[in-house]
Amino acid sequence: MANRVIAIDGPSGAGKSSVSRRVGKQLGFLHVDSGALYRIMTWQCLENGVDTSDSAAVAAFAKMVEVECRPEDGAIAYYVNGEPPGDRIRTPQINAHASPVATVKEVRDRVTAILRGMTRYGDLVVEGRDITTAVFPDSPARFYLTASAEARASRRQKEEVEKGIANQSAEAVKASLLARDKIDSTRKHAPLRKADGALEIDSTELTLDQVVEAVLAALPADWRG
Ligand code: C5P
Repeated sequence: MANRVIAIDGPSGAGKSSVSRRVGKQLGFLHVDSGALYRIMTWQCLENGVDTSDSAAVAAFAKMVEVECRPEDGAIAYYVNGEPPGDRIRTPQINAHASPVATVKEVRDRVTAILRGMTRYGDLVVEGRDITTAVFPDSPARFYLTASAEARASRRQKEEVEKGIANQSAEAVKASLLARDKIDSTRKHAPLRKADGALEIDSTELTLDQVVEAVLAALPADWRG
């Protein structure tokens, strides 16, 4: 049987990573953070002096970025030149440049091919912006996770402070997040939108446990273990 894919899309800070990790752990599916691949492309552009507003330059450069994928501790881990990128791809600077880079078709094609290739490693829970609509649109387990802008900004801000990545105000985090959402949902190639047939879950008033339960309950019966 082909390996199974749970696909989870939604805007920034909707809780996709926490939910995907938990669902993956519970079912023994590998967690795949597709946003990290766009962040790696962005980071490599910036490290190599590629102007992220020049889509032709980004398209040409994206072909040369090598990302190694390894299943590790229940997730797909990424390595660039033998090293994990870690929090270098989580800075406010990467946040600001990632969405413009992700509008470039060649970047999307490259990341989509990498993601589809990951089914060789096992069953997956993949989170992102276009997983339900473009990368794995035929999955029978597709979710659109959302929450109010305030809830999403406050979660992200807490996370940044806790991890020591940045110390921005809630307003600054909200502005950056809304700017990314706008670019992500209005771009030409694979924009962020709720796929027909995907189950929408608004997590504003829900605990993480409740969202995980809602996802598990909606899976095909024989996927629940
Ligand atoms: O999920 P995360 O916030 O880390 O993603 C960073 C950026 O990568 C998003 O703002 C979006 O522009 C892009 N992205 C995308 N498609 C995906 C995942 C992320 O365009 N499947």
